[in-house]
Amino acid sequence: MAYDFDLYVIGAGSGGVRAARFAAGFGAKVAVAESRYLGGTCVNVGCVPKKLLVYGAHFAEDFEQASGFGWSLDEAQFDWATLIANKDREINRLNGIYRNLLVNSGVTLHEGHAKIVDPHQVEINGERFTARNILIATGGWPQIPEIPGHEHAISSNQAFFLKELPKRVLVVGGGYIAVEFAGIFHGLGAETTLLYRGELFLRGFDVSVRKHLQEELTKRGMDLQFNADIERIDKQADGSLKVTLKDGRQLEADCVFYATGRRPMLDNLGLENTGVKLDKKGFVEVDELYQTAEPSILALGDVIGRVQLTPVALAEGMAVARRLFKPEQYRPVDYKMIPTAVFSLPNIGTVGLTEEEAREAGHEVQIFESRFRPMKLTLTECQERTLMKLVVDAKTDKVLGCHMVGPEAGEIVQGLAIALKAGATKRDFDETIGVHPTAAEEFVTMRTPVAG
Ligand code: FAD
Ligand code: NDP
Repeated sequence: MAYDFDLYVIGAGSGGVRAARFAAGFGAKVAVAESRYLGGTCVNVGCVPKKLLVYGAHFAEDFEQASGFGWSLDEAQFDWATLIANKDREINRLNGIYRNLLVNSGVTLHEGHAKIVDPHQVEINGERFTARNILIATGGWPQIPEIPGHEHAISSNQAFFLKELPKRVLVVGGGYIAVEFAGIFHGLGAETTLLYRGELFLRGFDVSVRKHLQEELTKRGMDLQFNADIERIDKQADGSLKVTLKDGRQLEADCVFYATGRRPMLDNLGLENTGVKLDKKGFVEVDELYQTAEPSILALGDVIGRVQLTPVALAEGMAVARRLFKPEQYRPVDYKMIPTAVFSLPNIGTVGLTEEEAREAGHEVQIFESRFRPMKLTLTECQERTLMKLVVDAKTDKVLGCHMVGPEAGEIVQGLAIALKAGATKRDFDETIGVHPTAAEEFVTMRTPVAG
């Protein structure tokens, strides 16, 4: 049977655009449908605008520290509306770039909500198109627990478009988004409380990292409340929010921001017309080749709920395009050494195993740790400290994990990730000449293990 397209991609986000462009580049006839915004979550309500707001928040400490270097400034003033307007302009520019990328690579762009009507057919804007393969790349959506008054809370989707910076913000959650946005609000001058239901936030990260960030955020004056969860939210006559915690305490805020994870975006996608199966958490179930239970349908990115990061969606998009249209170049995605950063203030950068994971996996570990005051701060009042940690296999000398909390941790860890992927040993680290004077050189000068 002749199909309208070889590949019909639903969702022009990180993974969908990558798969569509590369598939078209390999000679396939490709269409991509997008219902909301080109570039998806990352470009519009994720990584990119978030990082711009983090940069914005960072200026607060730059201004503060400048006086130690002889600069004097009148009191710094911040205008939220300017930051948001400039951010919006940049995102518009990026949307245009994504449009050009798709069109110039020969992909047909359909703007509207796509619904799968049978395993080889998609309906969009009242028209139907057939395809040999359909790729579900529809991403995720913020999930707010349905407590009484949840309608008064916002998620990251709204946070990027607030008309003004709230005076008092309550951030709920202890993952990436909660920690990053608490840093943004706090840095920009809002009174910020972070509420997390567990003992210590950032579950899954190395314990030294989690504790170090806790100390640093506390030093900065952020109110961290662990073992705390909201029972209900009530709007008061003056528009402010009264928040009742499960332990009976009450807090007041102007904004309650939930960052409690993301669900797969499957709304009105027509999965009931296919044999696609979902896993226990409701994400689309795929095998190692991103194949769903329906032979003609594949899925990747946040909607499969593996690792919800843009570079992972990109790698999966590339793998799918190659497998379908350039099988001789196909290489599976390696999920083992994924570097990641949390753009909290200060940043976290990490790659490889945490100390806890390494021990659980049966490694006999050596731990190297360094805590120091960054050189830039020595002329300032700021007492922030940086943490660097290496987890090493005592038997093979292989470096299993690198962890950092401090300025530019994400930038530093990217290079270390290459070393770890190449199987670097601690001896390789020791024999690497440092770049002086930098913070990063500390990673190649740690000599004495702190624990064994
Ligand atoms: P998405 O990028 O979400 O794209 C899915 C697209 O499909 C969307 O554009 C959607 O509109 C469209 N769509 C959905 N249903 C339909 C339909 N039926 N018809 C047509 N179109 C449809 N990751 C990082 O690596 N670094 C970061 O710093 C980072 N920061 C983040 C900050 C925030 C606040 C958030 C929310 C996420 C962040 N992420 C970050 C995660 C990253 O954004 C996602 O992992 C990534 O965007 C996933 O890509 P995707 O292609 O799977 O889905
Ligand atoms: P995460 O899964 O990272 O964190 C969710 C947090 O919410 C956890 O602390 C979780 O607690 C808590 N939580 C979950 N359900 C509830 C509930 N019902 N009540 C109270 N607390 C709850 O999700 P995020 O929303 O922060 O981010 C989604 C994903 O997006 C991230 O996992 C990451 O992959 C990606 N992302 C990446 C970024 C980056 O690369 N810098 C930045 C932002 C997002 P518990 O730990 O106890 O389960």
